[in-house]
Amino acid sequence: MSARVLVVDDILPNVKLLEAKLSSEYYEVITALSGEEALKKIASDGPDIVLLDVMMPGMDGFEVCKRIKADSRMAHIPVVMVTALTDATDRVKGLEAGADDFLSKPVNDTALMARVRSLVRLKMTVDEWRIRENTATALGVTDEKAEDEKVDSAKILVVEDQAFESDKFVETLQRDHHDVTAVEDGIKAMEAVGKKDFDIIMISLNMLEEDGLRLVSHLKSNEKTRAVPILMVGNEEDMHRIAHGLEIGAHDYIIRPVDRNELLARARTQIRRKRFQERLRANYEVSLNMALTDTLTGLYNRRYLTVHLEKLLRRNEESHKSITVLLFDIDYFKKVNDTYGHNVGDEVLKEFAERLNQGLRSFDLVARLGGEEFVAILPDVTKERAMTISERLRRMIADKPFAITHDEFKEITCTTSIGATYIFDETNITTEEALKRADDMLYKAKADGRNCCYFEGEGKVDPVQFEPAERPKE
Ligand code: GH3
Ligand code: MG
Ligand code: MG
Repeated sequence: MSARVLVVDDILPNVKLLEAKLSSEYYEVITALSGEEALKKIASDGPDIVLLDVMMPGMDGFEVCKRIKADSRMAHIPVVMVTALTDATDRVKGLEAGADDFLSKPVNDTALMARVRSLVRLKMTVDEWRIRENTATALGVTDEKAEDEKVDSAKILVVEDQAFESDKFVETLQRDHHDVTAVEDGIKAMEAVGKKDFDIIMISLNMLEEDGLRLVSHLKSNEKTRAVPILMVGNEEDMHRIAHGLEIGAHDYIIRPVDRNELLARARTQIRRKRFQERLRANYEVSLNMALTDTLTGLYNRRYLTVHLEKLLRRNEESHKSITVLLFDIDYFKKVNDTYGHNVGDEVLKEFAERLNQGLRSFDLVARLGGEEFVAILPDVTKERAMTISERLRRMIADKPFAITHDEFKEITCTTSIGATYIFDETNITTEEALKRADDMLYKAKADGRNCCYFEGEGKVDPVQFEPAERPKE
């Protein structure tokens, strides 16, 4: 996953240092030497994350952060403040300005990479929901009301075995009228989450009889708690374990001795974010009730796809990221209908749709265009990878027979032809053009004997060269 990072600092060597560290991890780095320049770059280059120096002449980091968070076009971009200040009041000031996290100078590599990775991951999810919500708005099924999320009265679980610390967290969090439950071990924590839906789970990494990280991992693999923000509490010396925690999905951390205001501010950030995502999801679900899905397969229909693809194409012109359009047409499908009847044909279509869904990532989009034609849109992958994915999908259809509920014939083999176009750094492409280009490739695949994939500009995808090695689901 490559992401674009904007590094903002008025001192050039600082910029260069962070640039070198991030580039060596394959991040794309853009830079700005002042607050004003940073705001311009954010508007023009759409970074996925901003690393922001606090002390700058002219507009300081707090002000830049405030402006980012006040602008609905950029408010969703995570901001990490990079600062020499270790004073808790400055951290709080930054968090109140909307910063998502802090890194102190000199920057610890482990903390830097863990932060960047986890915030980028978070942004990808939010981006996907935002664009879906946008699509829903464009279709007229939701209205765009960017309300401020409320940050009080959340349900919070505190997992800490030191009574003194636990009492302090509870008492502090109650100042924001949160409903706080405190437990002292993992088993009680799991019991508590079974009974109640929490908005935040705060976990100590210093419990005597309990590995806090193991609890994090447990909660992350549990369907019910997967999306609940986790706030870790640890000591300065726990930095490696904290980094590991962020890696496996914890959202944030706080270092002891815990400053009460910092705790409140960090809790507010998590609550605001969670409620924002819930609102996006709720709006998005409204759109599902409208006739945007195909009743037979449950996939999106042509109408939804057209609007969504249009949005993606416009967005990607600005962000210079790629879009791959894969068009599928089942081979000799008429024969299935003619031999086994229309109902069996329908069963095959359903199973076909399921296999496509299974073979793709959650932020890829799969739709049924009509009849036995399907389309998958893969945002932000390399062409090589897109070719591997298309080959993998082709095999997922061809390699395993379809089980059908027909008298004698239990299984039938189906294949699909695939036409693909890879759109990168092109402007003014319309949805029709994109689909037409993929369709031209599909035609070639059919003419070449079917059960194969043609990529625009590349010809037939070589099944040996692009043999998928990795597991399908991400
Ligand atoms: P090829 O694509 O390999 O050239 O051959 P084909 O036999 O798949 O080609 P064609 O596009 O001519 O046939 C598509 C068939 O799909 C025709 C139609 O009866 C059938 N079909 C379209 N929609 C549905 C549906 O919802 N359910 C079923 N069972 N069949 C459908
Ligand atoms: Mg057809
Ligand atoms: Mg066909």
